[in-house]
Amino acid sequence: MALNKVSVDDINVSGKRVLCRCDFNVPLKEGKITDENRLVAALPTIKKLIADGGKVILCSHLGKPKGEPKPELSLAPVAARLTELLGQEVKFAADPEVVGPNAKAAVEGMKDGEVILLENTRYRVEETKNGEAFSKDLASLCDIFVNDAFGTAHRAHCSNVGVSELVDTAAVGYLMQKEIDFLGNAVENPVRPFVAILGGAKVADKLNVISNLLEKCDTLIIGGGMAYTFLKAQGNEIGKSLVDDSKLDYCKEMIAKAEKLGKKLLLPVDSATITEFPNPIDAPVDVEVYESDKMPADREGCDIGPKTAALFADAVKSAKTVVWNGPMGVFENPTLAEGTIAVAKALAETDATTIIGGGDSAAAVNQLGFGDKMSHISTGGGASLEFLEGKELPGVAAATNK
Ligand code: ATP
Repeated sequence: MALNKVSVDDINVSGKRVLCRCDFNVPLKEGKITDENRLVAALPTIKKLIADGGKVILCSHLGKPKGEPKPELSLAPVAARLTELLGQEVKFAADPEVVGPNAKAAVEGMKDGEVILLENTRYRVEETKNGEAFSKDLASLCDIFVNDAFGTAHRAHCSNVGVSELVDTAAVGYLMQKEIDFLGNAVENPVRPFVAILGGAKVADKLNVISNLLEKCDTLIIGGGMAYTFLKAQGNEIGKSLVDDSKLDYCKEMIAKAEKLGKKLLLPVDSATITEFPNPIDAPVDVEVYESDKMPADREGCDIGPKTAALFADAVKSAKTVVWNGPMGVFENPTLAEGTIAVAKALAETDATTIIGGGDSAAAVNQLGFGDKMSHISTGGGASLEFLEGKELPGVAAATNK
């Protein structure tokens, strides 16, 4: 799918001030970055802007400081790590108001090819409301804007949408392009058979995704906590498993829709069940496996069972395109991670294009050591889900058309 937006390859940034919105929303533990995938993913665009002689001003949000400075959510550790990753100084402009005296002075003194990083954009209360004052502040720093933050593309905030509207050129970066290429091609132009796998906790979170993917894919696999509402809708006892009783009719509709469209809809045929949810989540559990029509009322399904794992793995084997969002069970617990591992393995072994839709599924795949076996792991959970729903992403829409 060709993205009809001006990209970093179409602009000349030499000697210009370029504000580049990245997604540096990385997990931090006691000031240390525990997963730097998002930083690494941002490097190609940053390196391109440096090589072309731009004055590179980076910005991002980190966590949810809710419109005020929170020292534990400062981007200072990111500036330090980017300095190492780029092999050149990334100067940190530590203004609590993001665009303050430090940022202005730093930009003023920049030479071509230098890089600075602004403070957490969500220190500003306007950011998540797309308020004009902050968008104007950001726009005043730059001649050109580049948006490479796919992870926030489903939001209309100052640092992606607001600022885009106030500059002459708002281009998309390489990461944004890559994300849209992979997800867009998979959904709109897939090499078939196209298998979509959905899991995770709640049906309600993924209503539109289920409906949209049913239209696009050849086989839809549903596992994880959300499968039990489907199993109940089919008349099965699901014991204490996760359920959304308000969505039983919706599940019935989806089952009927699959049938009408001639699509395969695969649900768990067995489950790994427990009696008490583990607390802490990785505490030992006593697991018993039951087939889907034989679940006792006092059990809770917390992972797909071995027959289901084999069924799902088999469906993936002949696929040419696979999109996966949401774990198959409570993967945070080693005993309940087996289904998720089996599916990750099946994806790792197929020669299909395999796309992981971010969030918990990306964490699971990386944690289980299959990260480098996937064709693409999205950096945006929420954004990739909205994309799979078929929605237009405001962060992409705001970029300048070609
Ligand atoms: P994100 O929204 O961050 O992209 P995701 O879409 O990958 O994440 P979620 O819908 O957030 O996934 O669900 C992930 C959670 O679902 C995990 O914490 C996992 O423990 C839980 N989960 C999966 N299967 C079950 C189950 N059978 N019972 C209870 N919880 C489950």
